[in-house]
Amino acid sequence: MADTIFSKIIKREIPADIVYENDSVLAFRDINPQAPVHILIIPKVEIPKVTEIEGKKHAQLLGELFDAANKLAKEMKIDKDGFRLVFNCGDNAGQEVYHLHMHLLGGRKMTWPPG
Ligand code: 5GP
Repeated sequence: MADTIFSKIIKREIPADIVYENDSVLAFRDINPQAPVHILIIPKVEIPKVTEIEGKKHAQLLGELFDAANKLAKEMKIDKDGFRLVFNCGDNAGQEVYHLHMHLLGGRKMTWPPG
């Protein structure tokens, strides 16, 4: 499978504003932020999209993505007022990068439904 831009960020082949890392997860600021806080939280293993998640195989990894989101939300002080977590999956959702990523968005009032 061809490297995505996110696997290049994992390998430090292209720069990113990294805000959190552990053995299995990396988090960095979105290059085109849609809110005052807009962070992408990704697994280091290649999972292209939500439909390729296998519950039993990836349960711990998914837990780590959510742990990272909660930790970062606290650090960025958006946990009290609230924030949004988004996974775009496929064309209709506007997924651009086919390496699984959770968007952590906060710091402003969000609207619903999303565009
Ligand atoms: P998607 O639409 O696939 O859910 O979200 C991909 C996100 O990755 C977009 O919000 C886009 O701004 C962000 N993005 C794309 N290329 C780069 C990059 O090279 N660096 C960073 N930090 N974010 C990127």
